Amino acid sequence: MPELEEKITALHNTIKECKLCPLSRSRTQTVPGDGSVHARIMFVGEGPGAQEDREGRPFVGAAGKFLNELLSSISLSRGDVFITNVVKCRPPGNRDPNDEEKTLCLPYLRKQVALISPLLICTLGNHAMRTLIDKDLFISQVHGKRYVKGRFTFTALYHPAAALYNQSLRATLLEDFLHLGEYIKKHEQILHS
Ligand code: URA
Repeated sequence: MPELEEKITALHNTIKECKLCPLSRSRTQTVPGDGSVHARIMFVGEGPGAQEDREGRPFVGAAGKFLNELLSSISLSRGDVFITNVVKCRPPGNRDPNDEEKTLCLPYLRKQVALISPLLICTLGNHAMRTLIDKDLFISQVHGKRYVKGRFTFTALYHPAAALYNQSLRATLLEDFLHLGEYIKKHEQILHS
């Protein structure tokens, strides 16, 4: 459906020009997202880090390498999914995005979700989970759980960066991905619709 690709490209071009919040002044470039616009599975992180800011692509640093490993542990590649963040510009010094930045950026994520229309949205870390699923959740209590909201199913996962230097979180994330892979297999239409 070339029309969908055109709409996503137009949206990403708008994001690239965005000056709505102060992050636009400190960024090197925006990081709208990448992967397949036809993906049925979307991953949403918090915001770009230093390497993402340099390259303009999400999850290309150390956390991204681990995310690639997690995807391949369930036979998925980045081309099978769509990956983006709650905020599209790097918060300086890797601080958390603030409420104003998240509020101003959120319409872009909503448009990506509306256009791509994934069947499953996996949030990575507390920020994405609280922004998209429920602001009162704690990732330590709900990781791996699924939530149905409207026509979307969500799964809350730990952020891969949190697991980089923590062996037990790493094992937890690998296990949550294993269950995610089983869920995807059971719901074949997630991959083939
Ligand atoms: N962390 C995120 O949340 N997003 C990225 O794109 C990279 C690191």
